[in-house]
This record gives sequence, C-alpha cells and structure tokens, in this order.
Amino acid sequence: MPTPKTQPDANSREPRTGGRRPRFGSRRPAPLWYALLVVLVLLVVQAYFLVPSTQTIPYSQFKSLLQQGQVTEAVVGDETITGTLKPEDGKTAPRQFQTTRIDDPKLVEELDAAHVKYSGAAANHWLPDLLGWFLPLAVFVGIWLFFLRRMSGAQGGVMSFARSKAKIYAEDDVKVSFADVAGIDEAEDELREIVDFLKHPAKYTSLGGRIPKGVLLVGPPGTGKTLLARAVAGEAKVPFFSLSGSEFVEMFVGVGAARVRDLFAQAEVKAPCIVFIDELDALGKVRVPGAFGGHEEREQTLNQLLAEMDGFDPRKGVIIMAATNRPEVLDPALLRPGRFDRQVLVDKPDARGREAILAIHTRQVRLAEDVDLKIVAARTVGFAGADLANLVNEAALLAARRDRKAVDMAAFEEAIDRLVAGLEKKRVMSPKERRIVAYHESGHALVATSVPGLDPVHKISIVQRGFGALGYTMQLPVEERYLMTRADLLGQLAVLLGGRSAEEVAFGEISTGAQNDLQRATDIARAMVTEYGMSDALGTVSFENGHRSRFLEVGMPPERGAYSEETARLIDAEVKRLVGEAHQRARDILTADRARLDLLSARLLEKEVLEGEELRALLGLPEAGPSAASPAPLG
Ligand code: ADP
Ligand code: MG
Ligand code: ZN
Repeated sequence: MPTPKTQPDANSREPRTGGRRPRFGSRRPAPLWYALLVVLVLLVVQAYFLVPSTQTIPYSQFKSLLQQGQVTEAVVGDETITGTLKPEDGKTAPRQFQTTRIDDPKLVEELDAAHVKYSGAAANHWLPDLLGWFLPLAVFVGIWLFFLRRMSGAQGGVMSFARSKAKIYAEDDVKVSFADVAGIDEAEDELREIVDFLKHPAKYTSLGGRIPKGVLLVGPPGTGKTLLARAVAGEAKVPFFSLSGSEFVEMFVGVGAARVRDLFAQAEVKAPCIVFIDELDALGKVRVPGAFGGHEEREQTLNQLLAEMDGFDPRKGVIIMAATNRPEVLDPALLRPGRFDRQVLVDKPDARGREAILAIHTRQVRLAEDVDLKIVAARTVGFAGADLANLVNEAALLAARRDRKAVDMAAFEEAIDRLVAGLEKKRVMSPKERRIVAYHESGHALVATSVPGLDPVHKISIVQRGFGALGYTMQLPVEERYLMTRADLLGQLAVLLGGRSAEEVAFGEISTGAQNDLQRATDIARAMVTEYGMSDALGTVSFENGHRSRFLEVGMPPERGAYSEETARLIDAEVKRLVGEAHQRARDILTADRARLDLLSARLLEKEVLEGEELRALLGLPEAGPSAASPAPLG
C-alpha cells in the first residue's frame, strides 16, 4: 500500500531523473546587478545629501546681497550662479546660494567692486549626463534580470512565483462513472483492469506483476476519451490530475518542464491517483533534431515527461493516462515500453452504441411518446458521442422554441438535418435545386463533347464546393495551347452557354446559376471583337490599348482605346451576336441530344460525381489512353 509522503521541498525537486536543465536557469548575473545598484545609490546620495544645503534665491536678492558685501565667492555658469555667502552672525558655516542667471552686462563690474572671488563654470553636466545614460540602462538590465528570475523561479529557485502557475489542480471527488459512458465497450473493458488496480494495488504488486504505467487513449475527437479518463478516476475513487498538453508548452523555456516535475511531485503525494494529459500531441510531437529554434521548449517538456515516466515507480499507484486524436504525430519514444505502452482505441460508436449514448444523454430530457432512439441512432451514422450529446441538446432547444410539452421525434429529425448539414460543412440543396444543377452541368459537358476541337470533359460534379459554386464541369486540356483559333473560341462560348441552354431545354425556365458563365462568355466575345480582330463587321482592328497577358485570362479589363460612339455601338452589337449565336448552337446541340442529356443528369443526380470510364461511356468518348491524349484537331 503506498503511503503518502510529505510534500517535497524545493530542494528535493532537483532533477533526480537527469532531465535536461534549462539554459537560463542560473542566477550568475546577480553580482553585476548589485554593483550597478550600489553605484546608483552612491550617485544619488552624493547629488542630494553630501552637497551642503543650498539656498535658491531670486536674482534681485543676489544683487542686493552682492551690494551689501555678503557674497564671498561666485561661480558664474551658463544658466546659474552659485556661490558662498558670509556666515550668518554668530555662525561659522558659510552659506551656499544659487540663483538663476539673467542677462546682466554689469555683473562683472559689480563683482569686482564687491571684491568677490569669482570664476566662470565650465558647465558641470556630468551628473545629469550620467544619469541620463545610466537610468535607462538600469531599467533594461532590471527587466532582463526580471525575466531571468522568472525562469529560474520556475525551476524552484528563490523567486518561485512562476510556481504558483504550475500549481495543478486535482479533482478529489470525480462524479463521472462508467454508467455515464456508452458505445465504447471495448475501451471500457480494458480500463476496468486499471480501475481494479487503483482500488487494490497490493493485490497486484504482491505477485510481482508489472502494472501498466501509461495508458494512451486514441480516437477521433468527441468519442469520449476525456470522459473515459475521468470515469476511471470516478470508478476507482482516486484523485484526478488533469492538464492539457498545450498548457505545458509555455513561452518561457523551462516552465513546461517545471510543470511536469511539479505535476509528478504532487501526484506522488496523492497516490493512488490518475495523472491525465489531454491532447498529448500538443507536446508529444516528434522531436526534430537541430530544428531551427522554436521547439526547444516543447522538447524540453517532452524530455522531462519521458524522464519522469521512467523514474516513476508504478507500485506507488500513479497511473498516467493521456489522450490524442493524432497518434501518428507522437514521438515514438513516448510509446516505448514503460511509457504509454498500453494503447486503448476509442472509436466512433455503432448503431447500438449510439442508441446507448442517446439513452444516457436523454436521461434528463422529457421525451415525447413517439421518440424511438433506435431510429434516431439509425439516422446518425458517423456521429461521435459528443455529436449525439449535441443532438439531444439541439432537439430539446427546438422543441422548447416550438412550445412543445416534450421533445418529440420531429424535433429530433430537424436537429439531425441541421447537424448533418453542419457536419458536412455544406448547405444541403433542395431536390429541385439539385435537378437544375445536374442539368446545367450536364449541358456544359455535352456541348463540350459535341463541339470538335475542345478539351475533353474530365469530371462533372454537383457536390457543392466552397461558397457559391453549386457544381462544376472540368475540362482537361490535352495540350498546352499558345494559340486558339476563332473556331476554338466560338466552341468555348457554346460550352459556357451549355449550362443555361440545358436549363431551358429541360425546364423551359432559367436560373441564376449561369451568372458566372455569362460573364466569362461575354468577356471572350468582347476580346474576340476588340482585341483579336475576329469580327468581320469591325475588321482586323484592335480597339484596346495595352494587352492581356494571355487570352481568356480573367483580370482587369484592358483600357478602352480611342474609338467613336458609332464603333462602340458596333462592338456591343457584335458581342451580342457572338454570344447569341453560341447560345443558339448550344441549344441546338442539346435539343438534338435530349435523350443523353436526361440520362447524364439522372446519373449525376444519383452519383453526384461522374468521372473516368463511366463518364466516357456516357458521353461516347474514346477510351482513355494515348489516343485520347493526342492533340485535338484545330479548326
Ligand atoms: P474527446 O475527449 O474524445 O474529444 P470528450 O470526452 O471530450 O471527447 O466528449 C465530449 C462530451 O461528449 C462528453 O462530455 C460527453 O457528454 C459526450 N460523449 C462523448 N463520448 C461519449 C460516450 N461514449 N458516452 C457518453 N457520452 C459521450
Ligand atoms: Mg478531449
Ligand atoms: Zn455553368
């Protein structure tokens, strides 16, 4: 039975395990600091105390004293006059005076007349100068030392105020038990052994068995790893020390390592107990030898953790648990025997598991008669425990908003729809919208296949990508093109209008989905007329100044050249004609090929993405291979 030891004092926290010591741990610069301090104090004392007390008097009084013959000595400086007065009656000590000098051309004559011993003063600025230099320097040195102290303080040094931050809070009475966990039965079973060990350590150690030191919980986010670790502590009724990996990694070198030491020192006192490091990957990433700066702190912390784990006697009854959802980035040293050698997989729950988790989280929720958790579980494929907890909450909120007496199935259905949409990070399109998009994209693809000389269609998709794009048709160029013929450009125009045309052919109605297509088509048509001289009506004349980097590239429109209003109207008419003709061409192609348009759209609706062999078969394209990659005939 491990007996609690007394709290170790600062000295015993020396690295008994031989972990690397931080570089800035020493307090060697202190003598320098004291020397500077002494110099400063001396200067201040000299400036303000050793100098005899000086009376500051107005200039007029100085003049009258001078005329009365009271002044014995005077030092005339640039800005001030200082000097000595005769001692007061009955005293021997001469008095010092100081006055602000004003412009007085007769001063010297009067000093002579009064027989004063006078001299000019070379401005005596050394003291202010020195202070001007010295004070900022002292401040900087002070700040520097402050940070050094902070770091050494974290080492358990004299000024250990950083230690208070490293204070780790142990939860003594964890209320979570295995009854609060469901759907991860295998993981739970593996951990029951740990619970038993924590409850009766003697039973295990007396037989000389090796007790696991570290248990690593591995699994996707939200599957209940943190929950499970707490449940182990709750079941075994032992204190639970928990820290997140990112909390160890501090800005100052050495602090993280000090925290690890602190954590283990405290855990030893409280044994039997559980030390839980959440998000181990934050500090346990693979160490990069000779990495440029930056990782020093994390690696030191990791080294300290490894050292502590090695130096720890498991019979003391401290179990180290950790959780990660990225085991692949962990430093292999962490997974070696004697460290986190036991790994427990915490996976997403299956349908039965989801039902059980839902049952746990609906314990406090008033459910309507019609709620069947089995059906909810069946509809939530891919949900982790945290998602399910969230779902129950969402359903309860929805029901409350509708003033229902209890949470009914409709609320669950709606909550599922919301969460699914949120989980897939996309807004779900309505069936009608999906049909329109499917026809639109099929239209692009069919026109592109029917017009000779264009790049073959590679992929069609109606899966929303990012913001705005509802679907896309991808043409892969068979070769890098430096030139495009007029026929190529006209064909490209038809392809761009294929989407809009398909909507017209299939639904007799048009949508806003073609906006970007029309913009690009107009751009091309205008460039054909005004830049490439491809319009018979306007002739082979360029109407633009400057030039595009390459055709079809969307960017800033070129400057408008100098041409008449008449020409401008002609250009507009020509652009309109080109786009209009392309539109008609696309419509003709799709009307003639209506059967294939329907077929392609139906298949796209069903599969969402078409590519490869299947797409080629549907479009009647040749097999993939060298022949398909040969240059398409131009013109
Ligand atoms: P992880 O640490 O794996 O990311 P958490 O343990 O933080 O996941 O889970 C977050 C919350 O989700 C928990 O507090 C609990 O309410 C719920 N939860 C997750 N998994 C389960 C589970 N298997 N059984 C019951 N509740 C769960
Ligand atoms: Mg967690
Ligand atoms: Zn389109």
